[in-house]
Formats: sequence, structure tokens, C-alpha cells
Amino acid sequence: MKPTISVIVPVYNEEPVLPELYRRMCQVMDGLGEPWELVLVNDGSRDDSAGVIGQLHAQDARVKGVSFSRNFGFQEAVTAGLNYAGGEAVILADADLQDPPEVIPQMVARWREGYDVVYGVRASRVGETWFKRFTAKAFYRIIHRITSVKIPLDTGDFRLMDRRVVRAILRMPERNRFLRGMVPWVGFRQVGVPYERQARFAGESKFKSVRQMLPFAVDAITSFSYFPLQLATYLGFSIAAVSLVGILVVIGLRLFAPHELSGQATTLVAVLFLGGVQLISLGIIGEYLGRIYDEVKGRPLYLVDKTWGFEEERPAGATD
Ligand code: UDP
Ligand code: MG
Repeated sequence: MKPTISVIVPVYNEEPVLPELYRRMCQVMDGLGEPWELVLVNDGSRDDSAGVIGQLHAQDARVKGVSFSRNFGFQEAVTAGLNYAGGEAVILADADLQDPPEVIPQMVARWREGYDVVYGVRASRVGETWFKRFTAKAFYRIIHRITSVKIPLDTGDFRLMDRRVVRAILRMPERNRFLRGMVPWVGFRQVGVPYERQARFAGESKFKSVRQMLPFAVDAITSFSYFPLQLATYLGFSIAAVSLVGILVVIGLRLFAPHELSGQATTLVAVLFLGGVQLISLGIIGEYLGRIYDEVKGRPLYLVDKTWGFEEERPAGATD
């Protein structure tokens, strides 16, 4: 029997959380009175998450699993989940129970009212460092400013999507994926429900240092905005304008006060400054170029090692 609701959970080294996740999901999902499935996507965990998924599947066939050949990343894991999930509505949630399953009935209720996307808005965040909270806040605001897609503020990946939205997402084959932007891009009727983001149930966050968060932010910006590229143009014009004034000043000084201008320091500073600006601009172009290269290579988004509860393998890009 095809499930009405699928819950997709990406799993990377979440062994201690999975049994509790299953227990809480059962409590909530059974209360809905609809057939459901839990799709756990093991993103190349180094602990025994895969073993736990196998056990849960053996115990309850509604738990299904997909295991990658290695760690491909959060966005890829979710994409695989969307590929395999069979529900009329699909819910994305984190394994660590930071997104409380108890919010799901509200999401389903809004979906029944006719909304195609019901996203969770983080009204508050519990148990996260000030650094994480500050960077997250700043990130959402910058993205909001410079991208053309109106990505709702303080919205993570915890959301419900109707089948037609899932189909649209699966038709977007882009490599450096940023789902939080792709879903608003799709359109249809979207609505938010506020919730309290909980502390992690066990284990630790995989996105807490700048090094772990930066690639995510850069993907987000480059996928939805040309602003960094335009920045080079703006900077070029402003610097040219400033130097035009500089040229006039220098000519004036030469004519009327020939001994006022001396020293190479000014020249050196100007050259270094421009050199810096040019290198930054090149770097920005490089970011976009690298992404174009990724697209051109057209490699599969992920490779599957093993599945539990699915008959056939579904490569990325397959729509139902
Ligand atoms: N995750 C994943 N692949 C990765 C990193 C994380 O599938 O390479 C999963 C992880 O298991 C969790 C979710 O993505 O279910 C969110 O990760 P985490 O809770 O560490 O991030 P945070 O909530 O702290 O931003
Ligand atoms: Mg988390």
C-alpha cells in the first residue's frame, strides 16, 4: 500500500538518536490515522547508523532506508529521500529531534487545507551556541537581501511538501543544491508554522564551525544570486570614480604646488589595493566557474550502496 505521508530523515553518524527518533515518530504519525513511512537516508555514516536502520526496518516495515556509498552531504541525502519517498505529502526532518515531530500534525492540517508547502519557522532556538544563533540570523538576513527568490526568514529544512512540489524539485538537477531556496522558487501555495527549535537529542552538530557552515552559505548565495558578480562591477565603477577625482587633484598639485606630492607610498598603497580588489573579483568569478564546471561534468548526485524496503534503485533525477 502506498503511504499517504513520507517522513524523510538524513542520517550522518546519528546512531544514538535513531531509536528515539523512531519512537517519537511512531507516537505522532500513528495518531494521524493515515498510512505513513519513515525514509532514513544514511549519508555514509562512520558509526553503525546503517545497522540500526536495518534493525528498525526488520522490526517495522514502515521504516525504510537508503544507504550511500560514502558521505555525499546533507542536500544530496535529502534529494535521495525525495527520490525514494512515495507519499502524497513528504516531510523533511533532522534526525537529532531538533525539529519536534509533534509539529507534524499541524503541518498536515495546513496541507489538508490546500497548502502545497508548509514550512517550519524557528520561533526560538534552544540549546545552541550564541555563535550558531548569530551566524544563522545574519545568514538568513543577507540571503533575503541579495537573492531574488524570497526565502522566508529563519526557516530551515523542516517542512511538508505536496507531491507536485516534490516532482518539481526532482526536476531541478543542479549540483550545488540549496533546498531552502529551491522550494520557495517552485512557488504554489506556501505557508509557515512557527515552532520551537529544540536542543539536539544526542551527538553533536555537523555544522558548527565556520569551515562547516561557509560552503553551505556560499552555495546558497551562488545558487540564487548574481550579486557577488555585480559587486565587482560596482566596485570597479566606484574605484574608477575615486581615481578620476585623484587624477584631477594630482594634476592640480603638479601645476600649482609642484613640490607637494612626493613618495612612493601612495602609489604602492593604491596598487596593492587594486590588486586585492582584482584578486577578490577573480575569486568570485572562480566560485561561479567552479560551479559551472560541476554542472558540466554531470556526475550523479549520489551513489547508493544499499536499500531497505525499496524494490528498485532510483537514480537522482528520476521522477515518478
Ligand atoms: N547530515 C547529513 N549529512 C551530512 C551532515 C549532516 O545527512 O554530511 C544530517 C544529520 O544527520 C542531521 C541533519 O543532517 O539529521 C542536520 O545536521 P545537524 O543536526 O548536525 O545540523 P544542525 O541542526 O546543527 O544545523
Ligand atoms: Mg541538528
